[in-house]
Amino acid sequence: MDWHLECSECGTTQSADGLATVCVCGRPWLVRYPNRLHPLVERDEARRDQGMWRFRSFLPLRPGESAISLGEGDTPLLQVPRLAAALGMTRLWIKDEGINPTGSFKARGLSAAITRAVAAGASSFTLPTAGNAGVAAAAYGARAGVKVRVYAPRTTPKLILAQIVLNGAELILLDGHIGDCGKASRTYAADSGALDLSTLREPYRIEGKKTLGLELGDQMEWVLPDAVIYPTGGGTGLIGMWKVFHELKEAGWVNGNLPRMFTVQSTGCAPVVKAFESGAAGCEPWPEPWTVASGLRVPGPLGDRLMLRALRESRGGAVAVSDDALTSAAALGSRCEGIDFSPEGGAAIAAMKALLSRGVLQLDQRVVLFNTGAGWLYRNPEELLGTFA
Ligand SMILES: *Cc1c(COP(=O)(O)O)cnc(C)c1O
Repeated sequence: MDWHLECSECGTTQSADGLATVCVCGRPWLVRYPNRLHPLVERDEARRDQGMWRFRSFLPLRPGESAISLGEGDTPLLQVPRLAAALGMTRLWIKDEGINPTGSFKARGLSAAITRAVAAGASSFTLPTAGNAGVAAAAYGARAGVKVRVYAPRTTPKLILAQIVLNGAELILLDGHIGDCGKASRTYAADSGALDLSTLREPYRIEGKKTLGLELGDQMEWVLPDAVIYPTGGGTGLIGMWKVFHELKEAGWVNGNLPRMFTVQSTGCAPVVKAFESGAAGCEPWPEPWTVASGLRVPGPLGDRLMLRALRESRGGAVAVSDDALTSAAALGSRCEGIDFSPEGGAAIAAMKALLSRGVLQLDQRVVLFNTGAGWLYRNPEELLGTFA
């Protein structure tokens, strides 16, 4: 391989041959590509291709290999003048990840993870999910012709559960949250030999998420925004973008300051916000986590230290917003712009408001908010139809 693995905590390195999980110290691997070249002409060449895999020189694919793909990536970066005006701003964008196959940015990570694992010989997978990762794992598993088992909380939105089953995965519902599902998934992996695709328990989902940052660079003519606001659960989006911003800087594809990275969580489950505010290096597990933004219901993320490092290194921050605030912000966004905001995307809008009112961000700054998933997956059709009966 022309890349290797480096432990994000203890710095140990290891060959990337075979199936990768986590370092012996228990912390996540990061992928390093010391020999890759990124000539500037490639920036323009990449424009002529389609999908997230067009940024080949930053991604874990060898010459001659093809990715397991459903056409993920290339999501629109939309200028949102009416939403911006509602907030008093002038230069605001939404990166709409709900447009991806399977309805969320999870498609990017699972395309990369399943591509690498299948190339290394894996044929059976397991994954705990707060929702959307399960849909993506099921779909990319079907695409690869491999077996996928998904563990999800019983409280996961019903349409998300339906999509998991429709894409052919075996769905196991548990009482509790994603942490409880993670324990069951790891037990099953140990007993059956299935590969556990949990966030940061294998190194390649992060690599797929890097394409969020690569596309942002491309779509903004390689002048990155002042700030990025990202709704965070397990942290792959935030960690992946921060990793690739450094890779882009080193490659000379971007100049100037890197964006300040802000995370938003729900007040019902805000372990990263709490750790950020207290100055801690890692998170304490959040007791009794609950939020309607199911993607943010991650009480004890394995990537906690990596997330906190990204927030601090970038001089960013962390904000918690209530479920009421994120729900009404999602509705405002859809009303203003016709974008199908998920509750998590709504949280990013609510965080924007909070950061403006605290004076952390200014009205004239260039800010990108991520709508990480499609809103329709969270709706209750019976309730909605009742509204029109
Ligand atoms: C998973 C998910 C998140 C959180 O992403 P992480 O990479 O786990 O931090 C945010 N929004 C949506 C819609 C999700 O599905």
